[in-house]
Amino acid sequence: MNKKIIALMLGLTLLCVALAGCGKQSTLDKIEKNNKVVWGTNAYFMPFEIREGEDVIGVDAEIAAAVAEKLGVELVVEDMEFESLISALEAGTVDFVGAGMTITDERKEKADFSTGYWTAVQVVTVAADDESVLTVGDLSSLVIGVQSGTTGDFVAEELSNNPDTGIMRYNTVIEAMQDLKNGNIDCVIADDLPSQAIVSQTEGLKILDLQPSDKETYAFAVKKGDTELLAVINEVLTEMMESGEIEELVNKYSLGQ
Ligand code: GLN
Repeated sequence: MNKKIIALMLGLTLLCVALAGCGKQSTLDKIEKNNKVVWGTNAYFMPFEIREGEDVIGVDAEIAAAVAEKLGVELVVEDMEFESLISALEAGTVDFVGAGMTITDERKEKADFSTGYWTAVQVVTVAADDESVLTVGDLSSLVIGVQSGTTGDFVAEELSNNPDTGIMRYNTVIEAMQDLKNGNIDCVIADDLPSQAIVSQTEGLKILDLQPSDKETYAFAVKKGDTELLAVINEVLTEMMESGEIEELVNKYSLGQ
């Protein structure tokens, strides 16, 4: 091959590498440049996130604060619908997500997950005087309330004989429980700790001794390929788990139930 052509090809290759490098600013670069990190959550999920006036407190809030501290930047909270969190990551409107979010295969296609920091299970809540549900199979013909786009929603879809009319979707577990209390739906399928927190503060509801699905693992999420940021989050989570802090925080924010 002629030397000129080789030189031209080499030049073009270098140009491509340089352009790719410039175009791809990592989230960590952006965080350092802006001196702030944006945490995406849905602040109605006790004990993991609870709105307290202007602030969001809870287990995930403490983890997010520790991540910001490790990065040496300010923490900014973006409170949004649970269903919008992963697309917000993809769009770059939030830098990381912590929302009692369960690792699922489908979500793993769109985001990268940290190490797991909590194990949860779905529970079934009914009216306190309802004796009709004895097995998981009994749920198939009921009107099931869920938080939209959550694992409770996916479990209801699998269990219901009639997913079109048998599932009522709400923005938060709290709203689903309220509608159950008002007698508009038959049961709610949602994560154990938030369900327990609401039931203990609401007259007339009870959690059944049934397990409608397998255990789940909560993790933080970042945009696909944000490995440097994920490494920082993993470091924080490992420290907080090994020291027993996560367990302590779950107890602390569950207090008053
Ligand atoms: N763990 C459930 C999920 O990931 C619910 C999370 C939530 O509502 N914040 O779908």
